[in-house]
Amino acid sequence: MKADILTIFPGFFTGPLDHGITRRACEMGLAKIEVHDLRQFTHDRHRTVDDRPFGGGEGMVLKPEPLFECLETLQLASREDRLAGRARQSIILLSAQGQRFTQQVAAELAALDRMVLICGRYEGVDERVADFLADRELSIGNYVLSGGELGAAVIVEAVMRLLPGAVGNEASTRQESFSAHAEEAEPGAADSTCGSGGLLDYPHYTRPADFRGMAVPEVLLNGDHQQIRKWRRQRALEKTLRNRPDLLDAAQLSDEDAKILARIKASRG
Ligand code: SAH
Repeated sequence: MKADILTIFPGFFTGPLDHGITRRACEMGLAKIEVHDLRQFTHDRHRTVDDRPFGGGEGMVLKPEPLFECLETLQLASREDRLAGRARQSIILLSAQGQRFTQQVAAELAALDRMVLICGRYEGVDERVADFLADRELSIGNYVLSGGELGAAVIVEAVMRLLPGAVGNEASTRQESFSAHAEEAEPGAADSTCGSGGLLDYPHYTRPADFRGMAVPEVLLNGDHQQIRKWRRQRALEKTLRNRPDLLDAAQLSDEDAKILARIKASRG
């Protein structure tokens, strides 16, 4: 997977993407990240990338020319082929007005060979970029940032950790919060127990078993995998009900899950 990032602040990415799994994925040759400085695609002395908005109003707008010119050097497949899925490439504009970036979108993007991330700045980007250059607009949440750089870093990290081989234990990325599919419990194994199926993840603990009087739940220490599985599933359900009840509607719930939920709700009164 190759990620191209188009930005007026290329230095921004020195650091955030040089650690952990993203770095490992690049070192292993699974991924490559290239940051492109939009100012190199300007032709005036001041290397101007912004201009005043037509129609008046606040602030400045990122000009279309540097973005189109930079994109043209990347030698991507045609827009037609990208949109039809004939080329596994996507041009993404980071925008507060975009569709929400979710774990599901991350999984979709992880199946691509190449993604191009365009970082906006100022009041935003000339709309012709969204209309004629980008394949989709993505927002990382319902808030306004000053630029698309943090969003691009979020997307790169969320996508690259899903590339096969990037995370040491692949099962772990299938069982996390928001994962679409519930993992089947393998007989006798506690580690593929409670694959999220759209729920939040279950709580994790490590040594020491007693830290300053705060004890790890007993059930995790006794080695009974069946009990551990049930406990984890119950805690995942509890946490989802408490923090993100909206996720329950789309979650894959078994009869046992429904019973556990009913019990939790009843105990809350
Ligand atoms: N005037 C715009 C906000 C512009 S913020 C509006 O009200 O919608 C400047 C740039 O920051 C945007 O072009 C976009 O690239 C980025 N940005 C801001 N919020 C974002 C978000 N929630 N998700 C992704 N990118 C965002």
